[in-house]
Amino acid sequence: MRLENRVALITGASRGLGKAMAIAFAKERASVAINYVKNYKQAQLICEEIVEVGGKAIPVQADVSKVEEVNAMVKTVEDVYGNIDILVNNAGLFAPFNLIEDSPTNIDRLYEVNIKGVIYPVQAVVDKMKESNYGRILNISSIAGLGTAFAGTSGYSATKAAVISLTKRMALELGEFGITVNCIAPGFIKTDMALRGGLTEASPEDLKAVADKAMLNRIGEPEDIAYTALFLVSDEASFITAQTLTVDGGRKDFLSHSA
Ligand code: NAP
Repeated sequence: MRLENRVALITGASRGLGKAMAIAFAKERASVAINYVKNYKQAQLICEEIVEVGGKAIPVQADVSKVEEVNAMVKTVEDVYGNIDILVNNAGLFAPFNLIEDSPTNIDRLYEVNIKGVIYPVQAVVDKMKESNYGRILNISSIAGLGTAFAGTSGYSATKAAVISLTKRMALELGEFGITVNCIAPGFIKTDMALRGGLTEASPEDLKAVADKAMLNRIGEPEDIAYTALFLVSDEASFITAQTLTVDGGRKDFLSHSA
């Protein structure tokens, strides 16, 4: 049991990648706090599934872009579990934004959720992590943050590049306290965000076209990210920090970019 006695807070865990990470961590005996913003029912269902098989899970509501809500969420988790050892900043938003066509204010919500929503949870957990001289922080960026030519992603990709940069800065500031900070840059993974955001009517042809861009000739599953996350938050990754790991099936159109 790789996460025995560990407590993990995963933002945006009511669906998609966050849900898969919560289930994977709970299977390895972590107590998990499942953050959601709107979808209480879904978050509660995942908790019930985990508890039914002997795990520990609680749903915790907060909009990660609101500092008071994030602080209250962290306090709730600490009150219930005593401590937070692992923080995954996964909650994120995709919205189309083109530099030429859109008003600068259209980028505000992307900035708030995808950037502030990574900074606030770290600020809220870090004092206690420092006290225990242990912590695992994992940020979820995107291959869009490494450079993408996909239409409409000028805003999203800038926020995801910021997450990669923040990962390095956080790792630099927190390393001396036994806290590692790493990042995953996923490619196209089959979740609500990917299916709605990029390919509105995700037809089999659309999906095949995306799959064809990967050297492994398939679209990613949430579990592909969950297993990578599991390694990066485990004790086995204790000498890895400030890194961004791309998990995208080997994109043929990103050959010239490196994290
Ligand atoms: P998703 O299916 O759209 O799920 C988003 C999750 O984030 C939900 O649990 C949602 O909660 C939560 N959320 C949204 N806004 C929030 C907020 N302001 N505060 C707290 N929680 C919030 O997304 P996903 O595909 O799993 O994406 C997860 C992360 O991976 C994101 O950071 C995304 O940018 C990144 N990513 C995804 C892909 C992909 O292909 N899927 C690729 C690269 C990167 P509710 O259910 O309550 O709405």
